[in-house]
Amino acid sequence: MKKYNFGAGPSILPQQVIKATVEACTDFDGLGLSLMEISHRTKNFQAVIDEAVALVKELLNVPEGYSVLFLGGGASTQFCYVPFNLMEKKAAYLNTGVWAKKALKEAKLFGEAVEVASSADANYSYIPKGYDIPTDADYFHITTNNTIYGTELHTDIDSPVPVVADMSSDIFSRVIDVKKYALIYGGAQKNLSMAGVTFVIVRNDILGKVSRPLPTMIDYRTHIDKGSMFNTPPVVPIYTCLQTLRWIKENGGVPAMEKLARERARLLYDEIDRNPFFRGTVTDKADRSYMNICFVMADDKQELETEFLEFATSRGMHGIKGHRSVGGFRASTYNAMPVEGVEALVATMQEFERLHS
Ligand SMILES: *Cc1c(COP(=O)(O)O)cnc(C)c1O
Repeated sequence: MKKYNFGAGPSILPQQVIKATVEACTDFDGLGLSLMEISHRTKNFQAVIDEAVALVKELLNVPEGYSVLFLGGGASTQFCYVPFNLMEKKAAYLNTGVWAKKALKEAKLFGEAVEVASSADANYSYIPKGYDIPTDADYFHITTNNTIYGTELHTDIDSPVPVVADMSSDIFSRVIDVKKYALIYGGAQKNLSMAGVTFVIVRNDILGKVSRPLPTMIDYRTHIDKGSMFNTPPVVPIYTCLQTLRWIKENGGVPAMEKLARERARLLYDEIDRNPFFRGTVTDKADRSYMNICFVMADDKQELETEFLEFATSRGMHGIKGHRSVGGFRASTYNAMPVEGVEALVATMQEFERLHS
């Protein structure tokens, strides 16, 4: 039976990416040595990181004046990097979920971190609108896709202050206008690579403005100066990143990824809305994520939750259990998820409906 991985992260990767990584771990570049055991200073690995940086710039149309970094620590470490490097007195945060709230908590250690709006009162089932961004903030922090709650900002926002975005779970899934952001970061393990590497795209001229001393490793400029090679970078996850970036390019780039993301999401949301056994959890349909599709049993079918989970799992639908803070189900439909995977899930939901009608 074919298995489809709907897990939220670490998550599905294209088969050719996994295969290329496995091969490089046995014999990297025909050197007769494993990628795991060679120096990151070899010219062979330098070529990997150079091509990965170049492909990020090409695929996202990154303008001049920005740097692309591959760091360790995960997106969670960026929650403190960002205020450390950018916040002199005040920063503004949009609270759209658990990750946004964690980012805000870190910023409070560094100064006045204001929550401009929050959807916590409705268990983050929508994205707040109509808020004011304080013009004296050093930056405005957003989470473009809320992995746990299944809400997503589908457009680049206009802001009077520099925008910092956590794009852990939707990077490369929609066309973005990078110049509308001062800094973009994310853990790679959702839509790009295995766990262990964090991507950062930063506009160089926003750095160096804070008065506090910065520890060497926390200062983005250290990593810009050394091309992400100040210390040993996570070589295997970066290699996997490169393979995914090549795969995105071969498959039509980000516009093609966006088209497929919309198609997968439409298929699944249509079924959630049609099937009387299920209900979507996001209250404002315009905010529905194309990457993490959250749904629960209909109100009069709650007792069937465990049964559906087991039923779906037995049909090869892996990782659809919802996050404990939402319950129900979450189908993560990242770039590598084929449309057939979503069709198989839809067929499973229909079969479950027939079984119980
Ligand atoms: C997964 C996730 C994180 C946390 O990433 P780590 O790399 O595990 O620290 C942060 N933000 C968002 C939006 C995520 O989906």
